[in-house]
Amino acid sequence: MKKMNNKCVFCQIAKKSMPAKIEYEDEEVVAFWDINPSAPVHLLIIPREHIASLNEVGPKNQQLLGKMLLVAKLLARQKKIEQEGYRLVINTGPWAGQIIHHLHLHLLGGGTSESQPKKPSADKIDRKDKAF
Ligand code: AMP
Ligand code: ZN
Repeated sequence: MKKMNNKCVFCQIAKKSMPAKIEYEDEEVVAFWDINPSAPVHLLIIPREHIASLNEVGPKNQQLLGKMLLVAKLLARQKKIEQEGYRLVINTGPWAGQIIHHLHLHLLGGGTSESQPKKPSADKIDRKDKAF
């Protein structure tokens, strides 16, 4: 029997006792739209099993973690952000601002957004600042 936490929002979503816009599900993981998106495509990929954070995983979860990444990649392709690019984020603990204590992988991409990493474009990089 997989661990569940009745008070956990993401456990509720996984067992469909709380509504969510689900994009993908199988026996191990569920992926749904973030309720407060930081990017045009903002999906959360979670294990069905209640795992509080990345700090709780061990070697037995290796296959599950790989699955979460593969589902993220599949969804990036389905949402047509595969080529332009996307970010995957796992916030862990208070410093990272983890607010939901059920492991989740953020998939972020699509268009411009606040969450896009701020990188200077190649022509704006002052070559004198570069070591090589
Ligand atoms: P964090 O724990 O900081 O990595 O982020 C938790 C994320 O879950 C936030 O981006 C929230 O907007 C999102 N979130 C919280 N509750 C729900 C919900 N009921 N449905 C979908 N997304 C949610
Ligand atoms: Zn949970």
